Amino acid sequence: MPEQDDSAAAFVEHLFYPGVLAGSLLLGLTLIEAGVAPSVVLASNGLLFALLCFATERRFGAADAWRLDPVEARADVLHALISNPIPSALLRVTLSTSVVAASAWAAKRIGFPLWPTHWPILAQFVLALLAVELVSYAVHRALHGRPLWPLHAVHHCSPRMYFLLSVRKHPLQSLVTYGSRLVFVWLLGIPTDTLTLLLVFTTAHSYVQHANVRMNTRPWSRVFATPELHRLHHSRRESELNANFGDVLIVWDRVFGTRVEPRLDDDLSDAIGLPGLEVSQSYGTHLLLPFRWSRLHRAAAAGGPSGSS
Ligand SMILES: [Zn+2]
Ligand SMILES: [Zn+2]
Repeated sequence: MPEQDDSAAAFVEHLFYPGVLAGSLLLGLTLIEAGVAPSVVLASNGLLFALLCFATERRFGAADAWRLDPVEARADVLHALISNPIPSALLRVTLSTSVVAASAWAAKRIGFPLWPTHWPILAQFVLALLAVELVSYAVHRALHGRPLWPLHAVHHCSPRMYFLLSVRKHPLQSLVTYGSRLVFVWLLGIPTDTLTLLLVFTTAHSYVQHANVRMNTRPWSRVFATPELHRLHHSRRESELNANFGDVLIVWDRVFGTRVEPRLDDDLSDAIGLPGLEVSQSYGTHLLLPFRWSRLHRAAAAGGPSGSS
């Protein structure tokens, strides 16, 4: 029924983004308060919101050019299985004990805990989101400068915007990104429940932020790094590429003057990717990209195949 299709599309356009945000928060809170183990909460929410974005992309895609490509999807599944969890586990094994001990020592020295553990979980969540987003903002800006850009370029090398792109990171970038966030979180002594809720929310946000779904998220773009703002961040045009660094919030971009609003008439469907470089989309190519950076750029400048091997 065309009318039903129109109303479903309008529903998704306006309510998918806030619905995912509110839904992830509500579901996360419910499962945490029911005493479900953090690993189960994180895995079940991650899977649920990935499936939801996958199904919504198929029916309400924003751009045909961004439709899920099986070759890219295969590489992204390997990023999800290798590039994210292995560096994260490595950091936990090597750093968590000493950083947590340093945090306890500092709290003892100053005579009060570094984190307000007596606050309600939602208030702790808001404080943690603001604090962790400041660290993420600083690290993301650093990743867009030399010498870290070739590592972060892996996240930017797709010509498409789709939900699975959110997991694409070079393992060495994961060490930098997760290392800075985890050390900060462990130092502050943020409790497991608050941290679990934060991870549920940020994971769901990252999927919907990259999703190829037609959305109007303007009402939310004063506070959140919405899909429309983040698409501009994935543009191959350098002025747009170096803006909108926020992962979940856009407030730190506003504070530091890097928030850029997309033009209403700007069609980004052919403008996503790396400036001056096309990269073939296999997991191996992604891993080698930072180490072949200069050679690939020389080949691209000479008009040869840039990233075909
Ligand atoms: Zn970036
Ligand atoms: Zn992104």
